[in-house]
Amino acid sequence: SSRWARAMAILKEFEEKCGTPVAKLKQVADAMTVEMHAGLASEGGSKLKMLISYVDNLPTGDEKGLFYALDLGGTNFRVLRVQFGGKDGGIVNQEFAEVSIPPHLMVGTSDALFDYIATALAKFVAEEGQNFHLSPSRQRELGFTFSFPVMQTSIASGNLIRWTKGFSIDDTVGQDVVAELARAMERQGLDMRVSALVNDTIGTLAGGRYTNKDVAIAVILGTGTNAAYVEHAQAIPKWHGPLPKTGEMVINMEWGNFRSSHLPLTEYDHALDAESLNIGEQIFEKIISGMYLGEIVRRVLCRMAEEAALFGDTVPPKLKVPFILRTPEMSAMHHDTSSDLRVVGNKLKDILEISNTSLKTRKVVVELCNIVVTRGARLAAAGVLGILKKMGRDTSRDGEIQKTVVAMDGGLYEHYTEFSKCLESTLNELLGEEVSKSIVIEHSNDGSGIGATLLAASHSQYL
Ligand code: ADP
Ligand code: MG
Repeated sequence: SSRWARAMAILKEFEEKCGTPVAKLKQVADAMTVEMHAGLASEGGSKLKMLISYVDNLPTGDEKGLFYALDLGGTNFRVLRVQFGGKDGGIVNQEFAEVSIPPHLMVGTSDALFDYIATALAKFVAEEGQNFHLSPSRQRELGFTFSFPVMQTSIASGNLIRWTKGFSIDDTVGQDVVAELARAMERQGLDMRVSALVNDTIGTLAGGRYTNKDVAIAVILGTGTNAAYVEHAQAIPKWHGPLPKTGEMVINMEWGNFRSSHLPLTEYDHALDAESLNIGEQIFEKIISGMYLGEIVRRVLCRMAEEAALFGDTVPPKLKVPFILRTPEMSAMHHDTSSDLRVVGNKLKDILEISNTSLKTRKVVVELCNIVVTRGARLAAAGVLGILKKMGRDTSRDGEIQKTVVAMDGGLYEHYTEFSKCLESTLNELLGEEVSKSIVIEHSNDGSGIGATLLAASHSQYL
């Protein structure tokens, strides 16, 4: 029928606009490298903030003692405690708790958010058992993983540049988030010192390095997306502080804000951006990360319903609700292996209240998921290539290629198999057979939490 033909035309056009041939990905990678240079050259020199983390020393394995971490970065926050055994002792003991953040606190006041966090932290500390040991007369110390762009002023202080990922609390912007947390802890009567403020990418890099010496890059693919890597301190023109002994400085790229004319953006992406809380910002993040993938699919489906009556004569009302289709549900549909795409049928019914879909229609939904995820995963791979290029690790030098491990974490990477498979195969495709043997992606399971405790240990007031 002509309706079906129209639906197919919308799908086809979307697919074409989302295209990521290798040549395009290489342009994206080159643009990433260029922006990295620009962001390191001067403050505000690029959309890439290339934030200095003040981490010039990654974990060695000698860390010892009990340290806490708090990880705030999405809809959940986690608190954890880890007991490190010192040289060759590894992790002796660890415990964590996860608490979800009520949506109203994501858009309320700074005090309300930090009070909520400090309360949960105090409760967790009160539950510390005999299997953890704080050295006598020591104050408990905490690594604070805060996964939003922060202009750090030292290893344990930094001002919030802006919120992302659905958070919007005006009175926190410009404030030192460590001071905000410290005040809230004081209000709770919690005696604890924040000894390191780290982005989740930095935490993941530190956690990854603890278990593997070759880890030099970290990438987060969760609600949002970001990356960090180890840079030569003398290659950071905007750094005017003393050169660190190690000669290295970890850089938090804030790559979610990357943008380039080479990015394959569609009208759906422009509309999503225009209706977002942070218009014009985080464009890379808005086509790659878990917060947005399901929403992009919903938008295309909505268009198909409106213009091609994909789901019958009326547009299903639920399909018009922004963010109703979440990426985990999209993932479940995409991975449906049943012959009649039963999972797709059930999800459409349960989430969007669309019943009795035909197999043909369900296949369109799966195809749509595939287009959106393929674009995101391939662009993420291009981003990694951009970092490898900046580090000079994308080609062999005199037949030698330095082994490089990319520590990856985040719910999207961890759970969306089609995404992670595609990312990995694309990176290999971009690097070629020889080089890809030396570049390894490793899943760093909650490396960011462990990493934050490690950085709290290496920046302890008792050292
Ligand atoms: P955050 O990024 O919020 O710190 P996570 O790294 O755990 O936390 O990532 C959570 C995000 O991962 C979710 O917002 C969602 O987009 C994505 N995600 C979680 N589970 C799945 C899943 N099963 N399939 C696909 N994506 C998922
Ligand atoms: Mg996280």
